[in-house]
Amino acid sequence: MKEWVTVLRAADAAARWHVHQRRKGSAQEPYINHLLEVASLVAEATHGKDSDLVIAALLHDAIEDCEVPYELIAREFGERVASLVKEVTDDKTLAKEERKEEQKEEQSKKSKDAKLIKLADKTSNLRAVTFSPAPNWSVKRRMEYIGFAKEVVAGLRGASPWLEQQFDRAAEEAERSISVRASMV
Ligand code: ZN
Repeated sequence: MKEWVTVLRAADAAARWHVHQRRKGSAQEPYINHLLEVASLVAEATHGKDSDLVIAALLHDAIEDCEVPYELIAREFGERVASLVKEVTDDKTLAKEERKEEQKEEQSKKSKDAKLIKLADKTSNLRAVTFSPAPNWSVKRRMEYIGFAKEVVAGLRGASPWLEQQFDRAAEEAERSISVRASMV
């Protein structure tokens, strides 16, 4: 099957799997917006040369958020896609704090492909902090979130200068969006 057909099939599956999920921001965007943003960042970073990677980006939260079985992804989209999705899935058996520590420490050990998805994921999440922050998040929580994302990304550097640039820009804008604006006078 032509690869772009499979990419669309993955987007369709992702839309159905995450159908009841919305982003945490005040705009409450459908979750598929996040998945498409991550997939399109990854596609651009790799000049559209790796359809498996784009499919894995579309499905990157399927195991973590929807408990889609690994075997189902492997059967539908192949072992490479399934193992990439697994590689970017957080271990939910760990407590939240442990999970955070693990996220910071484990990134540098991941494959280059997994790093690309993670970089795009963190970029999308920080853009959301700028454009549609969660209404119940205090300034402190938003600042902590940005700080945490930067720490995670420190372990991902070297995978794609272009994606790192996108992340840095998103982090800068997120920081600017919560700091006091300079006077126009
Ligand atoms: Zn995500």
